[in-house]
Amino acid sequence: MMDRIETDIAVVGAGIAGVGLAAAVADTHRVVILEQEDRPAYHTSGRSAAIFIQNYGNGVIRALSRASAPMFATADRTLFPQPLLSQRGVLTLADRDGVRLHRELLAEAEGLRQIEPREAVAMVPILDLGKIVEASYEPDAQDIDVAALHQGWLRAARSAGAVLLTGARVLRGERQGGGWIVETAGHRISARIVVNAAGAWADELAALCGVERIGLQPMRRSMAVVPCPAGYDCRHWPLFDDVSEKWYVKPESGRLLVSPAEEIPVEPHDAYVDDMILAEGLDRFQQMVTTPITHVERSWAGLRTFAPDRSPVAGFDGAADGFFWLAGQGGYGMQTAPALSRLAGQLIRRGAIPGDQETIVPALSPDRFRKAG
Ligand SMILES: Cc1cc2nc3c(=O)[nH]c(=O)nc-3n(C[C@H](O)[C@H](O)[C@H](O)COP(=O)(O)OP(=O)(O)OC[C@H]3O[C@@H](n4cnc5c(N)ncnc54)[C@H](O)[C@@H]3O)c2cc1C
Repeated sequence: MMDRIETDIAVVGAGIAGVGLAAAVADTHRVVILEQEDRPAYHTSGRSAAIFIQNYGNGVIRALSRASAPMFATADRTLFPQPLLSQRGVLTLADRDGVRLHRELLAEAEGLRQIEPREAVAMVPILDLGKIVEASYEPDAQDIDVAALHQGWLRAARSAGAVLLTGARVLRGERQGGGWIVETAGHRISARIVVNAAGAWADELAALCGVERIGLQPMRRSMAVVPCPAGYDCRHWPLFDDVSEKWYVKPESGRLLVSPAEEIPVEPHDAYVDDMILAEGLDRFQQMVTTPITHVERSWAGLRTFAPDRSPVAGFDGAADGFFWLAGQGGYGMQTAPALSRLAGQLIRRGAIPGDQETIVPALSPDRFRKAG
């Protein structure tokens, strides 16, 4: 027997994008969130490095990050009792090969200051001074409490009446009589609007609904947890990275998260680590420090999904009435989530867009990828 549900908005995907959007619209719309896994945030949203770096990503990403920063800081205390951001800082290092890129970064970045290599070593004493040619520091980079953000938004959505169905994989969707019929193995949902927040599967979901794909590309990235080198207390070190993104390291709970920072194009799947890629990344990191990595405690991989121009996709599909895209957040989906969720909510309500974000609406539209005519 199929469960029949009628709603205003069917949100597909319970990662940060899906729950953020649900929280933004649940006070004015009936919302059902459909998640294929048996728990939300199982895929990319549960596997991020949880950092906010203002100078990361293209101009659209930076505008969304800029708009998100105060929203993190002033988030509703009843939903988020603890601060969502905490100070971390980012130390960027250039070896001989990275100098040109580092100068380009310094020329365009905000709040980033060049420092002497010896100052970099004072911040992270395991760095090999002989290998650093240039360095810079961004003090405003913050750790994001991703679990609190996700849970707070889910709580907000539910308390406004939204329903989360887990183990509910959307198998097909069809436009019917001015709305959509979306089916899982056990549900038949009629909704005015379908929101595609399916992460790495967003293009697949579009195809299941008869909507043209955009060309979204999931890219695998892995992380390893290694012990803090003996004799050091790394809890208050900044995140430190190679300017060419050959690796980055984030201190967390007295350990180091090391990422090879790889971008390997893959099909959407439950991502897992490629041991060889991880070993090569750890080796690149190892060459910049004076202490050995003794062992890897655990590792994981996730999929960062990019549109061809590496900006997110948020907006109604011009060729499919009532089909709303919220995908392609790449490696920035956490730090842009407050502004992007609110903006997407306003596009759905057809409400006012904050003045500083009006210009980026066309840059987010799914229609930017459609051939004219
Ligand atoms: C290693 C790594 C490090 C990162 N570090 C950072 C960082 O430091 N800062 C930052 O801002 N961002 C970071 N990111 C990026 C960030 O995690 C993502 O941009 C964000 O999580 C994307 O969220 P999402 O909701 O779109 O995707 P997801 O969390 O993957 O959610 C999509 C959901 O849709 C569900 N779904 C798919 N198809 C269907 C279907 N047919 N039916 C029902 N459900 C379906 C999936 O099961 C999934 O739960 C990182 C990502 C990775 C992998």
